[in-house]
Amino acid sequence: MILANPKLDINLSIIEDNTRQIVQLAKSKGIDIFGVIKGVGGDIEIAKAMILGGVVGLGDSRLDNLKKLKRLKVPLMLLRIPMLSQAKRVVKIADISLNSQLEVIDRLDKEAASLNKVHKIILMIDLGDRREGVLPKDTLNYVDEIRTLKNIRLVGLGSNLACFRGVLPTEDKMLQLMELVKGAEGLLGRKLPIISGGNSSSLPLLLKEGYTPITNQLRVGETIILGRKVPSGDKFSFTKLDGIKLKAEVIEIKNKPVNSDKVNGDSNVNNSLDEEIRRRGILAIGSQDIEAKGLIPCNKGIIVEGASSDHLIVDLTNVQGVMVGDEVSFRLNYSSLLRAATSPYVKKFYYREDDRD
Ligand SMILES: *Cc1c(COP(=O)(O)O)cnc(C)c1O
Repeated sequence: MILANPKLDINLSIIEDNTRQIVQLAKSKGIDIFGVIKGVGGDIEIAKAMILGGVVGLGDSRLDNLKKLKRLKVPLMLLRIPMLSQAKRVVKIADISLNSQLEVIDRLDKEAASLNKVHKIILMIDLGDRREGVLPKDTLNYVDEIRTLKNIRLVGLGSNLACFRGVLPTEDKMLQLMELVKGAEGLLGRKLPIISGGNSSSLPLLLKEGYTPITNQLRVGETIILGRKVPSGDKFSFTKLDGIKLKAEVIEIKNKPVNSDKVNGDSNVNNSLDEEIRRRGILAIGSQDIEAKGLIPCNKGIIVEGASSDHLIVDLTNVQGVMVGDEVSFRLNYSSLLRAATSPYVKKFYYREDDRD
């Protein structure tokens, strides 16, 4: 075994299995799944596990990540609306991009013409989350403009919910999207093959009794990789949470007097307050690599107190047997995972279920 800390232990069997469960659920409702890989910095091994699990393509927000994935020979979707300055790279690297800005779409058209390509786009509609997207009232004007562009193929409408304001996908929102699809199809005189409904937060709706989805594509990252429902963080009955674990090494353990009042920084430490002796540990990882509040200790007795740039402080008073040199394991939320997976200081170790215990 290679000793290196901190690290992400990545169980590819679990990620493949989570993917397969979600793909099957979606398929039973006529929905294709694009696997979203940005939460792990475009990691190619995880991408392969998603493909084995049955995703129809891969999506990422960043072109550099998509470029790495090109050799996997599956359709690649750029999730973040493109930068004007990168239009040419978008056409070269992505098979399909999500868009909301006409000047960008115009530029994509020109670059596609110069490369003798037709670039596919999905027009994003803002159904209330107030991140990217055209407002519903402006949608048909956009479609009318886009249909004049020779090297752009509008293949669908899409929406993104629960990302910024936390507006959740509901049947109402989906009906609103359906109305716009019908209007757009009327203008174009053809069917739009893709209605791209959203992200992980759309999955719970698929389990609702009697729900017939309007969308035929979802872009899913978090629930595949972490097994977690969005936004609650609970697991689904058919997903597993331990696809990725973070491990960090204990470098100090001491009993220390600790203010019962929480203090953050030393500006307002008040030594006159009641002090309690607690068993405190320091782990060799910090906010360069993780977000402390997004760490969930696998050993339930451990409490995460907080982090500075390179130190994570934990309370070990209620756990036995943890010693200096030991590894402590955590599950992560999405933003902590994002940071860990893109920190050059955190090593990645891949295994399959059958490789261990
Ligand atoms: C990140 C992202 C997704 C995937 O979100 P998850 O919550 O990880 O499923 C889907 N669509 C877009 C546009 C995104 O930016």
